[in-house]
Amino acid sequence: MSAIPPGSTIGILGSGQLGRMLAVAAAQLGYRCHIYAPESGPACDVAAAFTQGAYDDSPALYAFAGQVDAITFEFENVEPVAIAQLGARVPTRPHSLSLDIARYRVAEKEWAAQIGGRTAPWRGVSDLPSLETALADVGAPAILKTTLFGYDGKGQARIDSPADATAAWSEIGSPVLEGGFPAILEGRVDFFAEFSVIVCRGTDGATVAWDVPENLHREGILATSSVPASAPVLAQAEEATAFAVAMANKLGHVGVLTCEFFATPDGPVFNEMAPRVHNSGHWTIEGAVTSQFENHIRAICGLPLGSTTLTGAAVEMTNLIGADAGRWPALLGEGDAHLHLYGKHEARPGRKMGHVTRVRR
Ligand code: ATP
Ligand code: MG
Repeated sequence: MSAIPPGSTIGILGSGQLGRMLAVAAAQLGYRCHIYAPESGPACDVAAAFTQGAYDDSPALYAFAGQVDAITFEFENVEPVAIAQLGARVPTRPHSLSLDIARYRVAEKEWAAQIGGRTAPWRGVSDLPSLETALADVGAPAILKTTLFGYDGKGQARIDSPADATAAWSEIGSPVLEGGFPAILEGRVDFFAEFSVIVCRGTDGATVAWDVPENLHREGILATSSVPASAPVLAQAEEATAFAVAMANKLGHVGVLTCEFFATPDGPVFNEMAPRVHNSGHWTIEGAVTSQFENHIRAICGLPLGSTTLTGAAVEMTNLIGADAGRWPALLGEGDAHLHLYGKHEARPGRKMGHVTRVRR
């Protein structure tokens, strides 16, 4: 397979901060980026071109594919069928299978089981009666989640007892999904920590993985990622990393794949995966020799992958959520804190405005 050389144009579906950091990494390697999204966003400020279009506008997507040398995406809300169509015109990586599986929580769990991973007990849910049956099987406490389009804990309802079923079903919006389960019920996992594994797989099948970050969430949103993880989490890193590599290989994935885990006394329990660069990998920009963004660009262009070795003894990434971004003068005053602001104008509560990374040498 021939490489897509520097000087080429990479198309990115999505205009958020992940696209922005991908475009910066691509620019460093001499690529131009062309963003396609329904709305302008942080990625457009740093890209060579922007096309405004809907993700289901096939003619517009097709025209976009004619203007770029490769396509990737920065989030999962693109229809896998659109990715497959684009892939017929221009190298589109990762391909539609990764997206198909990773964005649908039921398929994710099935694939995890097929490669021998642990998951929470779960059942697919179609309606309120099937939720009640699922609850009888899985038991409380549990979490009800929409199977598609969840992020930052949205589309989820906690269930403490079977009496909560009706309220939980309406809380997630009584979803409907043709040809699949619109919701999934998961037993609540009793974990002592959360961590993620970020791997990158090249077109030649070579894989690299970064040190695992331990992740702390606040109000359903990632707050910090720390490397190295604590000793009890580190003890589970090898098994979880082997799982993530096996998943990337089984999918024939190209690019970054992120798997989220709960650390439990029984070992790592797989929660979910993202077929893309991930917030818990932002620390790799300064904290690793090659960042998740650069390796994703290298992978989709068919280039050799870079080293994931740490650049210091410890790295911590803190998200700047909502009003936190107003702390930028103090953060710059620290001198050795790496500040990233995404250029978003409105600091709404819960909105990811930027992040700061501190590397301890
Ligand atoms: P994100 O976009 O932040 O990754 P998400 O909306 O895709 O989140 P999940 O990662 O599935 O959703 O859930 C968000 C958080 O809720 C998890 O990080 C974890 O803290 C908690 N959680 C989710 N599922 C379970 C479970 N089965 N047992 C216990 N806690 C859970
Ligand atoms: Mg998650």
